[in-house]
Amino acid sequence: MPLPRARVVTLNAALGPLDYRVPDGLAVEPGSVVVAPLGPRQLIGVAWEAERLPSEDVGDNRLRPLAGLIDVPPIRAPLRRLCEWTADYYLSPLAAVLRMVLPSSSALEGGRQLVEYRPTGVVPPRLTPQRTQALERIEGRQGTIRELADHAGVSDAVLRGLVNAGALEKVMVEADQPLALPDPGFGPPELSPDQRAAADSLTGAIGGGFDPVLLDGITGSGKTEVYFEAVAEAVRQDRQVLVLLPEIALTEPFLKRFAARFGCAPVAWHSDLRSSQRRRAWRGIASGEAKVVVGARSALFLPYANLGLIVVDEAHEPSFKQEEGVQYHARDVAVMRAKFEDIPVILSSATPAIETRAMVESGRYRELRLRQRHAGAVLPSLDALDLTADPPPRGRWLAPRLVAELEANLKAGEQSLLFLNRRGFAPLTLCRTCGHRFQCPNCTAWMVEHRLMRRLACHHCGHVMPPPEACPECGDKDSLVACGPGVERIADEVQALFPDARAAVVTSDTIWSPARAADFVRQMEAHEIDIVIGTQLITKGYHFPNLTLVGVVDADLGLSGGDLRAAERTFQQISQVAGRAGRGDKPGRVFVQTHQPQAPVIAALTSGDTERFVAAETAARQEAGMPPFGRLAAIVVSAEDREEAESIANRIGRKAPEVEGMEVYGPAPAPLAMLRGRHRFRLLVHARRSLDVQDVIRDWLGQVEWGSKVRVAVDVDPYSF
Ligand code: ADP
Ligand code: ZN
Repeated sequence: MPLPRARVVTLNAALGPLDYRVPDGLAVEPGSVVVAPLGPRQLIGVAWEAERLPSEDVGDNRLRPLAGLIDVPPIRAPLRRLCEWTADYYLSPLAAVLRMVLPSSSALEGGRQLVEYRPTGVVPPRLTPQRTQALERIEGRQGTIRELADHAGVSDAVLRGLVNAGALEKVMVEADQPLALPDPGFGPPELSPDQRAAADSLTGAIGGGFDPVLLDGITGSGKTEVYFEAVAEAVRQDRQVLVLLPEIALTEPFLKRFAARFGCAPVAWHSDLRSSQRRRAWRGIASGEAKVVVGARSALFLPYANLGLIVVDEAHEPSFKQEEGVQYHARDVAVMRAKFEDIPVILSSATPAIETRAMVESGRYRELRLRQRHAGAVLPSLDALDLTADPPPRGRWLAPRLVAELEANLKAGEQSLLFLNRRGFAPLTLCRTCGHRFQCPNCTAWMVEHRLMRRLACHHCGHVMPPPEACPECGDKDSLVACGPGVERIADEVQALFPDARAAVVTSDTIWSPARAADFVRQMEAHEIDIVIGTQLITKGYHFPNLTLVGVVDADLGLSGGDLRAAERTFQQISQVAGRAGRGDKPGRVFVQTHQPQAPVIAALTSGDTERFVAAETAARQEAGMPPFGRLAAIVVSAEDREEAESIANRIGRKAPEVEGMEVYGPAPAPLAMLRGRHRFRLLVHARRSLDVQDVIRDWLGQVEWGSKVRVAVDVDPYSF
């Protein structure tokens, strides 16, 4: 129904909805993407149902006319409802949510040719260090000058120099190339009876209506194969599918499997796309041409033309929680999107979150279980190695028993994996003479030594410094020591123990692109690597049949700190990494190094008694009224000036409302008291479940004012705190 006037939500978060007159000849309906003039500027926005949003009342005669209508399909009502829900629930401006719907301005322009560049292989006569770095980093890539420069970490000028030197060439890209069509009949697997039953139950739900399902199956049980059947059914019914993955790095093995099942690649959506790819994906999604989209969490807000299924793979993963801007949890938003679209949603996990299990308990989600590994493979045995009883030698981190197991595995010609969730060589550098510690100037964090890249780096803000030659405090030269291990240091230890073994470090520092991930998979499959030393990047998704031994270097790492989810996260992480062992026909063995073998989480892992651990965790949360039995929200006040942040935090604290069933703690310095140069104070709100915390917080913060230098961010359902 065309509107005579339009209420427009722009992409500018500082502006509320604005009213416009619709000029004759412009067919604007709710959801239309429009161009709205504001002063001298032309803003992009979406026409909204006026009755759903307040705006300042202005007489019709003063309304400015809209400047135009953009030729893309209108944003459909289910997505508009999702945007409203997200803005309300996460206390964010609607415009900030809408920016995730329309993230690519080039997508809004009609078809044309785009200019990109790619390396030619020509080595320029003058090779500066910057040119070398650029050429190394953009090998095999293509993109605009800006994108390539960003990727290489150099200026545009360096790349333009490379163009002039013939090392980069111009390529014209057709903006609207056709997208490949997945073929549901391409490579169907032979499913086991268990898998068949689960798959049938899922395919039966396609086309049905809202139906949240937990697909709970041990690692290697074939969850992916099973939900692929649901994907195939949706494609047969000509509906679109969104598969959410927790990390871009996981996309590569996934793409391979997808191609084996459906005969072509799905459409990818993540932060690492070039703008031409982003444009192509967005338009294909909006037109319905993109049948299957695999993406990171932001793919949830795209304007699918006829979405028929959402899958959240590894649904328990913390990285589904967005920690900046709109601080949403993609798992929860996925369920809401499915609800508004009235379609099924599958949460797949070997270690479902307590929250998700509680939804099953209360009957709101149904559960499908896979209890066996595919093709007779068995879950690996898991033993704890007590570091207090059998410690590694001084200055080493691998216990004698683990070393012996590694040696035996090498002799047997099988592959091993050592897991330590810490990038770099050492988490702290210390001066033995004066005690000076190298700290980030912008964050409450130590500078982590990265020996491979020859520098110290802050893992929070990215600040780097060259490796110090002397202590900046006392000037002593030979007094600096690296404290504690990171994966690089474990790799050194492995190399010292087994000089002939081929070891590889796998972290985001070494696997920074899909191409590198593909390369790693190929090397593993060809057995060019004997021992992998990796962070959580290696714990998920990979399937290496010859990998039979897993060592967890420090199981206690995630347990300190007293976080609500510490034990649960440790349990999930170790289960996941253990799940990499023994996936083929050889059984796997897992050894977990710990100082507290009697801790409930370690005992649960070694005994395999998941149910008891989950029951105990759940009971403890229930007792304390913690999520999902109670609610939490964090209010973080930050500013460059410490006193300014503290005074606003105190003012907010003094205005805390007295509400039955709600307590407010703080303000106190936030866990990262300084981050990226901003001092942070936090108030923590704990409430009973039935309380509308958002409403209370909205009212409460509405009574306090702060200047532009202070930022107040609310984290509803914080993941860690
Ligand atoms: P999960 O996601 O539960 O860890 P996967 O779906 O990755 O399990 O399956 C583990 C391995 O077993 C994969 O290599 C997969 O291709 C294979 N697999 C599982 N089920 C089947 C099947 N029915 N036929 C052939 N291969 C299968
Ligand atoms: Zn920092």
